[in-house]
Amino acid sequence: MQNNRILLVKRPLGAISTDCWQLEENVPVSALQEGEILVETHYLSIDPAMRGWMNEGKSYIKPVALGDTMRALGVGKVIASTADNFPVGSYISGSLGVQELAILPAKEAVSVNPSFLPLPVYLGTLGMSGMTAYFGMLDTGQPKAGETVVVSGAAGAVGSVAGQIAKLKGCRVVGIAGGEEKCAYVKNQLGFDDCIDYKAGALRKRLAAACPEGVDVFFDNVGGEILDTVLTLINKKARIVICGAISQYNTSRPEGPKNYLSLLVNRAKMEGIVVFDNAANYGSAAKEMAGWIQEGKLNAQYHVEKGGIRAFHDTLQKLFEGANTGKMVLQVKA
Ligand code: NAP
Repeated sequence: MQNNRILLVKRPLGAISTDCWQLEENVPVSALQEGEILVETHYLSIDPAMRGWMNEGKSYIKPVALGDTMRALGVGKVIASTADNFPVGSYISGSLGVQELAILPAKEAVSVNPSFLPLPVYLGTLGMSGMTAYFGMLDTGQPKAGETVVVSGAAGAVGSVAGQIAKLKGCRVVGIAGGEEKCAYVKNQLGFDDCIDYKAGALRKRLAAACPEGVDVFFDNVGGEILDTVLTLINKKARIVICGAISQYNTSRPEGPKNYLSLLVNRAKMEGIVVFDNAANYGSAAKEMAGWIQEGKLNAQYHVEKGGIRAFHDTLQKLFEGANTGKMVLQVKA
């Protein structure tokens, strides 16, 4: 058997260029060791975090080494196995990498069921994105019924789930997203109370009007000017969840918040989160969220790009252009 894969061969400065990648074709697949499975990749999770994994330096996870297959979570079908718990024909999610075939230890795989929910949902709402939203919103945001919660990146994978969870907890939820169409989706399909198009200007004025009682929880996926603007609207004891800062990922000198003294004035808290810290509790969170999906309380939207691993670069770029509504996935096997 032969594999095709995408290697990281250069670290980007600023935006990602195509010469960061090398397609390696027809690589022979090695024999399985005891306890390993061979997986045919069906969908890859395309994440803003990939931009960070390409950088050298200290982070919450080791950078991808130059010359290695690019790291990616994925879902796929087991096509050879030495592990009893994952027979041939079963489906798993795991760290598959940007490649068509992946060998991984069975103990690092999680069983998924495509007859219960479509495979991309296991990368989105029931995958890393959903876990981030669940633990970030509930444990760190701690929303209480009647409070006002603002979510940036509201139409995206994490933001869409974070806001819906705050709605389930009885909050007034206001999203921030790029474009009228996305804002209409956030209100009409996801049930947010309001959504502000940050590309249309006058963000502070429109956000203030949408949050007449101020902001108690801000779940931030974007950073930069949006974070700075929301900081001017927070209430006493507000909780600001620093989930991500996609507006800063392609700059070599990310800008921090200028209005941070609002934290002092309001005795507020800003806290960063990393989803992996909650790994021990993913199972129970996924069970609860699967229940919400089944009951029609949680919309598990995803966006599929086609073209296999050769479309990886363009698909990753599309995240930074806002092409997705819901979880961005790349289909590798039709
Ligand atoms: P996503 O929101 O599905 O996709 C990215 C979205 O970001 C785009 O659709 C676009 O939406 C928006 N965007 C892109 N460039 C922007 C800019 N310059 N300014 C404002 N918005 C911009 O991605 P995701 O997977 O859900 O990730 C969202 C955030 O969560 C990211 O910051 C990611 O790094 C973070 N994250 C953190 C953890 C953790 O453990 N802390 C785990 C997973 C994800 P618009 O069209 O609305 O602009």
